[in-house]
Amino acid sequence: MSEAATRITPSPRLRVQAMKEYYPPLGCRDTLRLDFNENTLACSPKVREVLARVSTSDLTRYPERAPVEEIVASHLGLLPEQLALTNGVDEAIHVLFETFFEDGDELLLPVPTYTMYEVYASATDARVVPVLAANDLQFPFERLLAAITPKTKVIAIANPNSPSGSVVTREQILEIAARAPHAVLLIDEAYFHFHGETVIDLIATIPNLIVARTFSKAYGLAGLRVGLLAGPVELMRWIKRVLSPYSVNSLALACLPPALEDVAYLDWYVSEVLAARSEFEAALDAVKLRRWPSRANFVLVDIGAQHKHFTHLMSAKGVLVRDRSSDPGCDGRARITIGTREQMKIAASALEETLSEMSAINC
Ligand code: PMP
Repeated sequence: MSEAATRITPSPRLRVQAMKEYYPPLGCRDTLRLDFNENTLACSPKVREVLARVSTSDLTRYPERAPVEEIVASHLGLLPEQLALTNGVDEAIHVLFETFFEDGDELLLPVPTYTMYEVYASATDARVVPVLAANDLQFPFERLLAAITPKTKVIAIANPNSPSGSVVTREQILEIAARAPHAVLLIDEAYFHFHGETVIDLIATIPNLIVARTFSKAYGLAGLRVGLLAGPVELMRWIKRVLSPYSVNSLALACLPPALEDVAYLDWYVSEVLAARSEFEAALDAVKLRRWPSRANFVLVDIGAQHKHFTHLMSAKGVLVRDRSSDPGCDGRARITIGTREQMKIAASALEETLSEMSAINC
């Protein structure tokens, strides 16, 4: 017997062994990035100026998050105790689940939705209870209410949702929170700026509501990895116990105040994307591709059986889009991020060319 065969290696928890592997298709993205819903252009120039002033001595120090947490909290009309900065919303989800899930608990998850909820839940002892949307991919409100049980511990809702771009109303959120007072209701507002509606103002009055926000999308800081959780002090104090005090780095912390201050830049980027979304939706309608109404910076499109070929041909033309076929209820569908009007004109012509190449093959 070889030495390798007899060697005993430590085994991870059974839950971890059963986890689905998830490797997002990153890499070779120096082209038009319409695949990950990031800002497709740049962050505020004010952020760039602050970054340029960061010294090597600044980098020798551990990050100090408290003063920046105060600034972000006051920007959102919250107390610092109601807010925690995180290493992206991804860390926020991870920490929230680590804080609340016990063996036998349930995560209620309207699907299709953002992949990482399921990934992080599957590393805990909770059970994921998916609630499938109908073919229109609208928020499955009645089905979700019907799926609440005494074991429901977290209900995770992205608003707007990805990949559909659909939304849940404030009234529906209030009703869900009231019907599951024993569960944390996480409203992930990663795409808030494109939708314009929030429930962050309800944090003081709804004891089980937690809101997540990110700086990866409209603010254009995905590479810095900053997000946040906002919620009642009673819940946030447990989350803060689990959260690493060092997980948001100094560069990210330095960039947040100028990013928040430059409201003009944020407003410009958001209005540019909204204008580009209308133009691109018109281009999709012109080529008769079915699409789902979106309140975010992306649109889901029905490509059909040729979805893989479609993404491949688009990518060969320098336009990256995301095949979402493996999402529940999304067979044959691709998600296309909305950038600026100029970028979306390029995307629209790549799309037209791709469709005519595909129909030539089908003849
Ligand atoms: N929530 C949703 C709904 C998302 O779509 C994404 C990223 N695509 C995230 C959270 C991740 O945000 P972050 O970059 O802050 O981790």
